[in-house]
Amino acid sequence: MRGGFYHIQTYGCQMNVHESEKIAGQLEKRGFLPCENAEDADVIVFNTCCVRETAETKVYGHLGRIKSQKKSGAVLVVCGCMTQRADVAENLKKRCPFVDIIIGTFNQYMIGEYIDAFIGSGERIVEVWEHENGGSDGDIARASGVNAWLNIMYGCNNFCTYCIVPYVRGRERCRPIDDIVSDAERLIASGYKQITLLGQNVNSYIYKGKNFVDLLKCLEFDKKYRLKFMTSHPKDFSIALAERIARSKVLSHNLHLPVQSGSDRILAAMNRRYTRDDYLKKIQSVRDLIPDIGLSSDVMVGFPTETEEDFLDTLDLVENVRYNNLFMFIYSRRSGTPADKMPQLDYATKQKRIDRLIKAQFEISKSIADGYVGKRFEVLVAEKSGNKCFGKAENDAAISFEDKNDSISVGDFIEVKVTASKNANLIGEVTD
Ligand code: SF4
Repeated sequence: MRGGFYHIQTYGCQMNVHESEKIAGQLEKRGFLPCENAEDADVIVFNTCCVRETAETKVYGHLGRIKSQKKSGAVLVVCGCMTQRADVAENLKKRCPFVDIIIGTFNQYMIGEYIDAFIGSGERIVEVWEHENGGSDGDIARASGVNAWLNIMYGCNNFCTYCIVPYVRGRERCRPIDDIVSDAERLIASGYKQITLLGQNVNSYIYKGKNFVDLLKCLEFDKKYRLKFMTSHPKDFSIALAERIARSKVLSHNLHLPVQSGSDRILAAMNRRYTRDDYLKKIQSVRDLIPDIGLSSDVMVGFPTETEEDFLDTLDLVENVRYNNLFMFIYSRRSGTPADKMPQLDYATKQKRIDRLIKAQFEISKSIADGYVGKRFEVLVAEKSGNKCFGKAENDAAISFEDKNDSISVGDFIEVKVTASKNANLIGEVTD
């Protein structure tokens, strides 16, 4: 037991948010407590992302600031996807001599031991492994709240041409089904009301002949809770999975199916291995089986060589599908990926295209939200401040409402009737 305070700065996706909970678990095991401000911490951890260049630039900017703000004697650690790249780790080592420990994704589970070693010897540690060696995550200090993240697999085999993940997270490794089921049982017993299964491509989960649909069947407990998953790859999304969602008592009626582009030419250049038509057929089957499904997606604008015609195909697909929610990104170069070597578009073109897409999606989200007025949803209460509550419906629609009788707690499932929609934000009231 050491004691003191720790502060973790997390960049990137939900996967990294959960990785930070694992890092917190190791620090808390050593007696460290969390603190809000990096200036007060004895251990500061930057859990980095390298999916977008902006995230990487941000890390260098924040590190520059921390250098002067950190307490004397505080240990500064940089880990995560960014440092898994040998060139970046080397650059960081030279550029930032005040960083005490630099490690990658595969040896992150040993962060506690590296901190012990640094405190003991004062010797800087720079160690990035090329592969994992079967170590385990140990204790997890989960953020409080209604949702618990649960890894079912790690890594990715897909090699989309814009993505660095397979290079920094390695190939797919699936966790044993029994371990996942017992983790989920434990999480529900400890009060979590929602579990989100995590993997870069959950649809390709396979363990001893059992696939993702088999896993979902095993998680069909006779308990009131919500089960979600992310992320699905459209090429592996099966009708069997849509049928499972339709039949399930616990699976949320929302689906995030990242399309990335509506142009077949760009989808092929991205190595996504499905066509626009394949994708639209799958969406139609999902809607036939689960009419109240809430759909969301990721769309990338300005991929190398994207023409106005390609972009119009994307816009057309978005208008055709009518997603409840869309995460829209401008393509960002990543050195080490095939797309980085393709002819690039100028920034102004990319910016103008994403502005058009954002405008189109806003109208769609607004019109879907307007259509919910008067409808009733079962909402899982995620936040409460005074008598103001906020939660999500089974189709992932976010709804705010008042607790007039002061009888609602975070984690309750409450029936709410939507009374108004303001700029795609839903306001509701508790039904009698
Ligand atoms: S499926 Fe494609 S985008 Fe997703 S993590 Fe794998 S390579 Fe990256």
